[in-house]
Amino acid sequence: MRFRFRLVRASEEAPSGRRHNGTADEKSLQLGSESWDLVDLAAVEQDGARLLLLLQPSQQPPLTITISISKIDPSDLKHHLDVQRTRLRAEHARAQLTTPQERARFRQIVCPACDVTVDLTPFPETPQMLCPCCETLVTIQSNVVPPENEADFRLCETCGMFSRPRHFRSFYFYYLVVHSGIHTHRSKRCRGCMRSASWKMLAGNFFFVIGVIPALIQLTRAYRKERDAGVYRGLESANQWARRGKLTKAIEGYHEILQRVPCAAGIYYNLGMALYKQHDLAHAASVLELALNDCANYTPACQLLEQCYRQSGDVEKLETLQSH
Ligand SMILES: [Zn+2]
Ligand SMILES: [Zn+2]
Repeated sequence: MRFRFRLVRASEEAPSGRRHNGTADEKSLQLGSESWDLVDLAAVEQDGARLLLLLQPSQQPPLTITISISKIDPSDLKHHLDVQRTRLRAEHARAQLTTPQERARFRQIVCPACDVTVDLTPFPETPQMLCPCCETLVTIQSNVVPPENEADFRLCETCGMFSRPRHFRSFYFYYLVVHSGIHTHRSKRCRGCMRSASWKMLAGNFFFVIGVIPALIQLTRAYRKERDAGVYRGLESANQWARRGKLTKAIEGYHEILQRVPCAAGIYYNLGMALYKQHDLAHAASVLELALNDCANYTPACQLLEQCYRQSGDVEKLETLQSH
């Protein structure tokens, strides 16, 4: 994979200096005259056209490099780096194990949604796993049939609820006496969040014909009737109840879905959040424990459970949870 890049120094807002050539293969990343082993690449974060690389070379202190990518889609480069670095790091971790017991405990799974290798060794075996790269809750137990379109469901970037977020592009035309322009922003939102953002967009663009049209398009998308089939049917309306503060109705909706889905850490998480908002810490905690029974590395559920234990003063359970 070949690309062009410019370095973004920590002290500067915009990339400076001239463009360089970069290449990435299955083992290394070449940035101009410097070469890095992908096994040392601990994380890659993307912000628009920029990639932030966290490198942990052995015998050297960790360092970060920010590069601004051109010529290819930065998401494609990030995906390539994530697939290769996680594979190499998992192989490396396995090679470090010395005893047969340690090797027997070693567990790595390739995410079917994004091909990234996930190391599950520190966690107990559960029917689902969370892919830290694409954030899909994946059913991994062989005798459980995964829900249809499993990879479409995840936490909404706006409301934080387990849902089926879609791409959303906000568009604002602004007119100041001396200056006019357009502001756009891309995000992924669930339908409820799309609806409220579309209404805001319509209000914000009301006086300018140019912005009303995209607002109406987004409103039509947000209210379009879709076949709400599959095991997660009813999730959107339960989330809507939760968003409006009608928590009893939302809880009823989540319970109904749970009767159909054998493993559903995401639904337990939404239910736990609704109970937490009702200040029912005891029930919220037991539901979030069920979320972790279905998916041991489900970080959002773990964090909310920590909060429940902390607020109810359950020090013993908090310490046990944190020690894992
Ligand atoms: Zn994934
Ligand atoms: Zn949302």
